[in-house]
Amino acid sequence: MKVYRFFSYNFKIFKKGEKLFSIEHRGLNYGDGVYETLRVYDGRIFAFKEHMERLKKSLDVVKINFSVNERKIENEIANLLKLNRVKNCAVRIVITRGNGLGLPPPKGKPDISIMLVDIDKKIEEYQKRGIKAILIENPRLYDFSTRGAKTINFLPNVLGSIEFEKNGAQEGIFVTKEGFIAEGTTSNVFFVKDGILKTPSLEIGILAGITRKFILDIAREQKIPFEEGFYKKEELLSADEVFISSTTREIVPVIQIDDKKIGDRRAGSLTLSLLSAFKKKVLS
Ligand code: PMP
Repeated sequence: MKVYRFFSYNFKIFKKGEKLFSIEHRGLNYGDGVYETLRVYDGRIFAFKEHMERLKKSLDVVKINFSVNERKIENEIANLLKLNRVKNCAVRIVITRGNGLGLPPPKGKPDISIMLVDIDKKIEEYQKRGIKAILIENPRLYDFSTRGAKTINFLPNVLGSIEFEKNGAQEGIFVTKEGFIAEGTTSNVFFVKDGILKTPSLEIGILAGITRKFILDIAREQKIPFEEGFYKKEELLSADEVFISSTTREIVPVIQIDDKKIGDRRAGSLTLSLLSAFKKKVLS
């Protein structure tokens, strides 16, 4: 993953490599912050409002007192797109509680970083051919305690990514200790059984993915039957189609989970039709 050369820190422009943070930074010492990943298509930010809503919610959950100025953030992203001469990329916004060692939050100021990140060239290939995923049962450190807030505490997800890479897979799907399918390390999970689209309920404590929401909107518009619920791994493994969703990967078919082939090991027809409807939405 490449971060583009010019980025923004507290609404000032810096070049990659310039030192910014104090050794006492709370992002570094405690993972004390939240973030958002947005997508830019042809110079336009997709679902900006939705991402700002979720960012505010995350800040609220972790009690970081930062007032989100949407106009300022939007302008800064436009500025970075121009400086880096890029039109298609992801945007990562990170807000932390700033500097100060010692757990009780200091009086210091939160800070905001905005950077542009390139989109993995392999994604298009994955969208056509599908990926392999593994189940991560009893994931270490994964406790759903942040209840949908998008925090930078990503250690469980990093550990999950080490595990799926070791298994030659491209995603790991967390299963709760009660045995319910939750979400991927950086994605939401969907499956299709007998024409019904199914996805784990937000009540499980997963992230309320913005791509997930758009997919459910499309299902509603196209009258595709769908449900959100609590599903055991057997249901996922015997699905006709499985796919994952995220801002950067959009919709990617899953054609194998652990040693189990899904469908006939090809991208499913409903998956591909949802992907094409989603692509229309992002460009409209
Ligand atoms: N769950 C997790 C744990 C994630 O990191 C992501 C990616 N941000 C998602 C789900 C998908 O969310 P979105 O569609 O908003 O990118």
